[in-house]
This record gives sequence, structure tokens and C-alpha cells, in this order.
Amino acid sequence: MLDLTNERTAWDRDHFFHPSTHMGMHARGESPTRVMAGGEGVRVRDITGKESIDAFAGLYCVNVGYGRQKIADAIAEQAKELAYYHAYVGHGTDASIRLAKMIIDRAPQGMSRVYFGLSGSDANETNIKLIWYYNNILGRPEKKKIISRWRGYHGSGVMTGSLTGLHVFHNAFDLPRAPILHTEAPYYFRRDDRSMSEEQFSQYCADRLEEMILAEGPETVAAFIGEPILGTGGIVPPPAGYWEKIQAVLKKYDVLLVADEVVTGFGRLGTMFGSDHYGIRPDLITIAKGLTSAYAPLSGVIVSDKVWQVLVQGSDELGPIGHGWTYSAHPICAAAGVANLELIDELGLVENAGSVGAYFRAGLADALAGHKHVGEVRGDGMLAAIEFVEDKDDRAFFDASRKVGPQVAAALLERGVIGRAMPQGDILGFAPPLCLTKEDADTVIAAAAGAVKSVL
Ligand code: PLP
Repeated sequence: MLDLTNERTAWDRDHFFHPSTHMGMHARGESPTRVMAGGEGVRVRDITGKESIDAFAGLYCVNVGYGRQKIADAIAEQAKELAYYHAYVGHGTDASIRLAKMIIDRAPQGMSRVYFGLSGSDANETNIKLIWYYNNILGRPEKKKIISRWRGYHGSGVMTGSLTGLHVFHNAFDLPRAPILHTEAPYYFRRDDRSMSEEQFSQYCADRLEEMILAEGPETVAAFIGEPILGTGGIVPPPAGYWEKIQAVLKKYDVLLVADEVVTGFGRLGTMFGSDHYGIRPDLITIAKGLTSAYAPLSGVIVSDKVWQVLVQGSDELGPIGHGWTYSAHPICAAAGVANLELIDELGLVENAGSVGAYFRAGLADALAGHKHVGEVRGDGMLAAIEFVEDKDDRAFFDASRKVGPQVAAALLERGVIGRAMPQGDILGFAPPLCLTKEDADTVIAAAAGAVKSVL
């Protein structure tokens, strides 16, 4: 076989501007290039033939696993039949219409319509515009501020980068601060007052939110956005009672709730949506990743009936809504979505995420129990994280220069498993494909334990 590794690596360093990558280190060859070439089930292989279990499902998106013939066939069929037609002024395709229906059939109660985009970021940009439009139509032009949370991740567009509450995504970009605000992250492990129970800490978070709304003026606050479980901010499940208390505050001040389900939508927590899992009743839901298992780029905003009625009123007053992408509801992506959602049902992957996810997290916690630098093993459904601490008693951080997360992730890769060093803090994250078996989970657990012990 022709070995293209060196040539591809050279081209990559000279021509490819990678997202979320240290540009200088990469161009100088100081950070690794890995050229991926194939995948099947939970395994991927690179151009050298080296195979790994992908315990992060790409970027928590390849939920059905790699190499699914059914989705590949659906994409090919659609490309041959009709590769593209737009969705403007009432156009659709069989695939996009069927997919919208399948999504609403699976969505939490009260949801009405789906607006399709291409990425989680553009779907959240759509959310922001819909929220502003909604309040303009209701005659409340001052009600425009959107509250997000520190450690939330909602994309890296201009406004969505601003919604994101992780510093690395703000650095030197001059993103607009107004009208975005950030409130307390529901990060129980890192609470200041350690005497607080989970319920008390949830109340503390709800109180901080209420204080912020009152300080800004409730008549200026339009919406609150949150992931059901913090993802990129460290895979942090909400403490007990959190969503109930937050929703009580939002209801009191007539503030819309956006559930960003880009990671949790379509099964990752063992329920179809994270909102079902935590008792969240959102006005808008962001979806992407698991919608097509990343076989093709597709996202969406699921709009509740309450919001939809106001949008219709808007069109009646102002004419057609001036918001659209060329590739909204792209037929090839929609065909991938239909096949993907069918496959999730056929293979029982929502249930598998719940049962194998619980098995995986329990095994990980057991394997690392008592390790002096493991502060916490946490997660929910098919999401897990290990947070490392210098000192367990005071949860002290390691010096950032030690790069503990990336070191453990590298040691894990040497053992044949891909995890992710989360971008803020010493945290190793796992989000395997939902088709993970118990046997695969055992392999990941053994590799993780070995990697942690080799570094710390
Ligand atoms: N929202 C959440 C919760 C995410 O995790 C992500 C991506 O990881 C996004 C939005 C942005 O999605 P995309 O990268 O497709 O723009």
C-alpha cells in the first residue's frame, strides 16, 4: 500500500487552518497531526492503520457509530434523485418534511415546528433572532437580554461565541458583550461553600439568576439558555432540583427558556431529549449533532407552539420572516437524518445509552476510586468525566503548565482509546457512540485507569 502519511502531514501543516487548534504549534510540527481514514461501530482508524475506540464519538456526535450502511445508502439515493432544492417560500422535499414530522413526534410536549440549519452555532444564532423578533412582535422592544451560564457552550459565531461562557472562545475576538449576560454555572463540585447540599446549591444558583434579572430589570430580560447537562464546560450534571428552581424564576419574570440539546438531543442521556430527563419545559430547543449522527451537517431549532403563534402574528404584520440559509433543510442532510432516527429506534440506542452508560460510569468510578488525584468521576447517560485535582481535600487545581488533561488524553490514546481533554480545567471527558457495548466499556475503563495511573 502506498504510504501517504508524510506527504499528507506536510500538506496539512502547510495548508489546513484547523479549528480550535494552536496554530503556531501545529504549523511547526509540535502538536500531532492525525489523518483519519475509516471507521466502523465505535472504532476509527487513521491513515497508518492504527485503530482506536472513539470514546468521544467524534465531537459527541457520531451517536449511531461509524460505517452505517443504511445512512450511507440514504445519502447516496438522495444525491442521485435530487441533490439540492431550497426550502424558501414553502419548498421542501420528502426527506425534509418527513424529518420535521419525526422530530416533532419525538420532541417534548408543546413543540410545534422545526427550523433547519447546518450547525449548532447557526441554530443558536437563529434562536437569538427569534427571541428578539418575538418580543418586538409582542410590543416589548426593550426585552432583549439573554442570560447564559459560565461554562456553557453554545457555539462560536459572533453572538453564540458570546453566549458561550468559556474564556478560550472569547480571547481577543471582541465579541459583543451586550446584550448577553452570564450567571453562575451549576458546578456543584466547585461550589465555594462546601457545606451546601445539592438542593441548597441549586437554590443558590436560582437566587443568583433572580438577582441578575432584578438588577437588569425583568422588562429587559428576554431569555435564558442552558444545556440540560453542561457539556464542553466539563460534563457537569445539574445538582438536584436545579432545573425546577431555575424554571420557577424564569416563569416569574416571563423569560423564555432555550434548552441547548445539541449534545443531549436524540438519546445521549438515555431519553430522547435531555429535557425529558431533567423535567425541562423549554420554549425553544437547539438540536444538531445526534440529529444525523454527523453523517451530514444538519441542525435545527424546535419552536414551541407558544413562540410559533407569535411568529405567525409577525408574518401577518411584517410579511415573510427575513431569515434563511441556502442550505436550510438540505435534502441530503435531511435524508441522513431520517435514516439516522430510524436506526436509533431499530437498534434501541436510547435505551442502550441509558443502560450501558450507567454501567460505564459505575465502572470508571470503581476503577479510579481512592486515586489521590481524582477529585470526581461524574456524568449522566452516555456522558462521563474525570476531574483531576492536585489536592483532594481542598480541590486545588494543578498548575496549568502541567497540562494534566491533555497528558492523560495522550496516555489514553497510546492505550487505543480516544477521550477528550476538556478545554477548561483538568478534565477528561467521554461521550462514546450510543452503540457502545459493555465489553467496549470495559476496554475503555481499563485504558482510562491505566492512563491516569501512568500520568498521576
Ligand atoms: N451547543 C452545544 C451544546 C454544543 O456542544 C455545540 C458544539 O459542541 C454547539 C452548540 C455548537 O455546535 P456546532 O459546533 O455544530 O456549531
